[in-house]
Amino acid sequence: MNTPIIISNTKSYITNLKSFYNLHESVWNKLDKEKYRYFVAIPSSLISLVKKEEFVAFGVGAQNLETSEEGAHTGSNNVHNLLSAGAEFIILGHSEIRANNIETSDIISHKVHVALSNKLKVVLCVGETDRGDADAPRDYLEDIKKMLKDSLRSVDKKLVENLIIAYEPVWAIGSANAANPLLVLEVCITIRRLLSQMYGLDNAKHVRIIYGGSVDASNARDYIVHGSCDGVLVGKASMDAEEFSGIINNIYKED
Ligand code: 13P
Repeated sequence: MNTPIIISNTKSYITNLKSFYNLHESVWNKLDKEKYRYFVAIPSSLISLVKKEEFVAFGVGAQNLETSEEGAHTGSNNVHNLLSAGAEFIILGHSEIRANNIETSDIISHKVHVALSNKLKVVLCVGETDRGDADAPRDYLEDIKKMLKDSLRSVDKKLVENLIIAYEPVWAIGSANAANPLLVLEVCITIRRLLSQMYGLDNAKHVRIIYGGSVDASNARDYIVHGSCDGVLVGKASMDAEEFSGIINNIYKED
């Protein structure tokens, strides 16, 4: 197995540095092996503070960035701000930001281009809002393909080696209704096939695909073993040291 990609998306749950440290000290103490690694996507204002402490257990990233690289954009964090703060990756296109068209796939594709061309790794989120019902089923695979194509429109094949796709069905996020790993497998295959068509097999094979949406310690490993995912993106459960360390230990455990 490739090294799994396990990311905590802290959203706005973390409000101060002390609670962040307490949580991750506790996570680290509960890991079965010291060498297990994970990532945290945190509010931009905390990145340089967290980086100062040189936690060895995890890499640090951000949750969004400004489209422009510099200029008159009050209140924004551009790619250079994030890199100089120490960010190693960025989550883009999260459904909580796509919601209500706050960000369109067009805007997101510019952001993906800006981040990747400045050597900041990108976790690009895509996922259908719903799958319809028996009377009116939706072609959710087409929805996902369109979202992915549109969100990568500005991205050249030379840049994709630092790209990770997070499949996050919106209906599974924060719902206690995690997707069945076999449904996730179908989507992973679809995403892989599309990436190969867009970028060629040699480039597409570098792109890793992870799953997010109500991941917890009991289901995390199934997405890797049965869903063919390279890792997981975890929201709420990563705020609980017992649960998040359980996710990491279960994913890394040898059969
Ligand atoms: P939950 O794990 O809380 O469902 O959130 C998933 C998510 O949005 C991660 O980006």
